Amino acid sequence: MQSSASWLRRNLSNVPDISDQEMNAAGERPAEDLYARLDGVNSLVIHHSATATGNARVFRALHRAVNGWLDIGYHFVIGNGTLSSDGEIEHGRPVWSVGAHAREHNGDSIGICLVGNFCETSPTRKQMASLTYLLKKLLEDFSLSSSGILLHRDVPGCRTECPGDNLTIKEVVDALL
Ligand SMILES: [Zn+2]
Repeated sequence: MQSSASWLRRNLSNVPDISDQEMNAAGERPAEDLYARLDGVNSLVIHHSATATGNARVFRALHRAVNGWLDIGYHFVIGNGTLSSDGEIEHGRPVWSVGAHAREHNGDSIGICLVGNFCETSPTRKQMASLTYLLKKLLEDFSLSSSGILLHRDVPGCRTECPGDNLTIKEVVDALL
């Protein structure tokens, strides 16, 4: 099992001055009462990690220890078989809490991150199957139509390539049919 600290050191070009012990501790979940509550959900935003490998724990360590955030930015992480199983759905922030994944849209959206860099590779079949399953569940839970599903780059005001050219909204929405 790879430690969060070794993953961070391998994946960051500029590693800040944080001890391995602190980096590994940052992979742990913070206390529940620290989160702000979402004020309804209007969109489900899809991201890639822009890293070849990963899981909820190492992204949590990255976002906490390096970015200085309360917790991992996303509500869900879908593994690609590197540091979690292929297609495994892991929980990030609680689904009722405000995330940190889409500037100015965090107050009413859920963030889903697929592990991988889809500027270079494509999501695995199992990741797409899990994404479809999760989106169907969330659309139902929050009474949304599929127009509520957005890629990060299509969120108004967000300037990003995320989740890469190899993941399109057509592909995501077609899979729901
Ligand atoms: Zn993104």
